[in-house]
Amino acid sequence: MRSVAAVFLSRRRFANFIRVRPNRRNSLRCFSCSSDAVDARKDGGGEVPHLPVLIVGAGPVGLVLSILLAKLGVKCSILEKNVAFSQHPQAHFINNRTMEVFRKLDGLTEEIQNLQPPVDLWRKFIYCTSLSGLVLGSVDHMKSQDVDMELSPVCVAHFSQYKLMKLLLTKLENLNFSVCYPNSSRSSTWDRKILMSHECISIHPTQDGVKVGSSFCKEGKIEERFFHCSILVGSDGARSTVRKLVGIDMKGERNLQNLVSVHFLSRDLGQYLLHERPGMLFFIFNPDAIGVLVAHDLNQGEFVLQVPYYSPQQKVEDFNLKVCEQIILKLVGRELSDLQVLDIKPWAMHAEVAEKYVSFGGRVVLVGDAAHRFPPAGGFGMNTGIQDAHNLAWKISLILNSIASSSIMQTYETERRPIAISNTVLSVQNLKAAMSVPSALGLDPTVANSVHQIINSSVCSILPQSLQKFALEGIFSIGRAQVSEFILNDNNPIGSLRLARLKKIFDEGQSLQLQFPLEDLGFCYQKGALITEGGEDVLESVASGSPNRGCGAYFPSAKPGRRLPHMPIDALNGSSTKDGFSTLDLISGVEFILIIAPVQSSYTLARSSIKVAEEFKLPLKVCIIWPKGSSIQNVNSSEVVLEPWKNFIDVEEATRSSKSWWELCQMSSNGVILVRPDEHIAWKVESNSMNDSYLELKRVFSQILQLDEVDT
Ligand SMILES: Cc1cc2nc3c(=O)[nH]c(=O)nc-3n(C[C@H](O)[C@H](O)[C@H](O)COP(=O)(O)OP(=O)(O)OC[C@H]3O[C@@H](n4cnc5c(N)ncnc54)[C@H](O)[C@@H]3O)c2cc1C
Repeated sequence: MRSVAAVFLSRRRFANFIRVRPNRRNSLRCFSCSSDAVDARKDGGGEVPHLPVLIVGAGPVGLVLSILLAKLGVKCSILEKNVAFSQHPQAHFINNRTMEVFRKLDGLTEEIQNLQPPVDLWRKFIYCTSLSGLVLGSVDHMKSQDVDMELSPVCVAHFSQYKLMKLLLTKLENLNFSVCYPNSSRSSTWDRKILMSHECISIHPTQDGVKVGSSFCKEGKIEERFFHCSILVGSDGARSTVRKLVGIDMKGERNLQNLVSVHFLSRDLGQYLLHERPGMLFFIFNPDAIGVLVAHDLNQGEFVLQVPYYSPQQKVEDFNLKVCEQIILKLVGRELSDLQVLDIKPWAMHAEVAEKYVSFGGRVVLVGDAAHRFPPAGGFGMNTGIQDAHNLAWKISLILNSIASSSIMQTYETERRPIAISNTVLSVQNLKAAMSVPSALGLDPTVANSVHQIINSSVCSILPQSLQKFALEGIFSIGRAQVSEFILNDNNPIGSLRLARLKKIFDEGQSLQLQFPLEDLGFCYQKGALITEGGEDVLESVASGSPNRGCGAYFPSAKPGRRLPHMPIDALNGSSTKDGFSTLDLISGVEFILIIAPVQSSYTLARSSIKVAEEFKLPLKVCIIWPKGSSIQNVNSSEVVLEPWKNFIDVEEATRSSKSWWELCQMSSNGVILVRPDEHIAWKVESNSMNDSYLELKRVFSQILQLDEVDT
């Protein structure tokens, strides 16, 4: 491996050392001082050796990134400010693309599939006046195509974030990571550590990377420890310190809504719902309370209730244990024998994306919630973050191994930031779709927000806070009376009109949806580490504001920037031990894949590709996709044509597929597709259209790896 200093081609000088105070009381103050002030202390903390990658934040995104990096042979460690991992369920919907990423993480997909609740327990969203009261509507969000594996080798999943974190930690342990606490005995090596209770408080660019200061508490004393790394990844969540330290702003809408998240257990409620009305989300509207209940696991009776609140009149402290229990019971509509509230946590909903993802000449990078924070409607937050990590890991590996230029880091931002912007727009749209139901019931949330704004306005704000709170809650309770049984019934003209409006919303699929196949599998990188083609991608037209955005179907495509289409294939000629696998399984590690048909012009191009890849030290495998039913004698020809190279695989389209591979990709059988390690297409061409494939391949690899123009 070349000196890491050498791979950062564009070095800048940074005058200031940026630092924040240890976040002992959640107060964050940035200030700059001279780098002379950075002398390390030696009392238990001090300096530690150089790490190729340091990750700040052991949330799901930081953990997934560290697994991906470790599997690519990149040394890294994680700093985590908390003493323990979060037990709050938070995210629970894992989308199709994330499950595909998980397929490469040593059986993680199978573990999730085995441990998640059966799909029949979570396929529906239910709208009701209480969990034991009137059902206003019930929407089934799973269709037969969601489970028939035609578009993907896996399905979406419903699995709580903290349970996922446990599985990720086990994967890391299997990769020889260890979780360390400040009081545990000092380690001789700093690679593959999850350093708990270490809060990143300063960042200082150096000649060969970044110097990172962390604070930790040991035996009652706050100490500092400094790390050196080539690349610092900020996966430190929505209030990212790393983002603030490097001076990156967020763009979008802030504080759309304040909510309290109440994590509770009740087997009694779980069993009741399991038998009476199983579902994933319950939207509950009654004159006493309004809330959204997420059924994380009906069998275990594990739930999270989301309740909006309006500050400053309502405070988080108002939602104490007793109040939360009362709200739960009002929403359940009957007594519970075993209600146990575990955690009450406030959070704010934003719709923002960082102005930049990459800073300090590619040495500091943001991923996950540190880079984007969406309303959770549609469940895109963690999924987008995990897919950020997937886009980033192979690029880091190629930079550190001097195969790609350090400027490939910029393509991470070029590719992922538009996806985050698109997912933000979609999540806000989903939030509006979710609000269509209360609006139809006469509970327009925009009215609640307007009332709140009026009370916050200068005229009302001179009133004592207690009076403001009284007024606010009074107006809200009048509003909630709209969903009383007296109004909401077919005999009441207003009620029957509202119920009819509600039915139309459900019938026309205008309420909140669970699945977004077009955005989940069909997103496309328009520019970046790929050879772009002209023409608008299907998602672009939808992203430009179509009202039906989010409900579109996914169509496989081999356009550069798209994820490689999935097709079941079988190995031929003993070239693999695996039968019945997916085209997505052709890709592993940091290897690029060139997919061809067994035709002369494509073999010629494959030979040039292998030659150029060798010159670029880029791992490349050739995959020859044969039509179904090809005979073994024909298949042996690959060996003859490609010798002396051995890194190729012959596969056959599995008999159960309805279209041929090239039809699926909308290409002729002269098609050639170059796929990146993250399963996105880097380049495609018709091999019979090529004059000098060697020169063309040099241009293609240089552009993908962001290397300077090759002297031809
Ligand atoms: C109610 C709700 C429901 C949701 N549902 C879904 C869903 O169904 N699907 C989905 O995809 N997403 C969902 N999300 C979003 C999802 O929870 C987040 O996107 C996800 O947690 C982001 O992961 P992360 O690793 O980027 O950040 P986080 O999970 O926030 O982790 C960041 C970590 O960094 C640590 N940290 C912070 N600052 C420092 C520092 N200075 N030094 C060291 N460590 C630091 C923190 O302690 C934390 O452990 C939901 C969110 C909410 C609120």
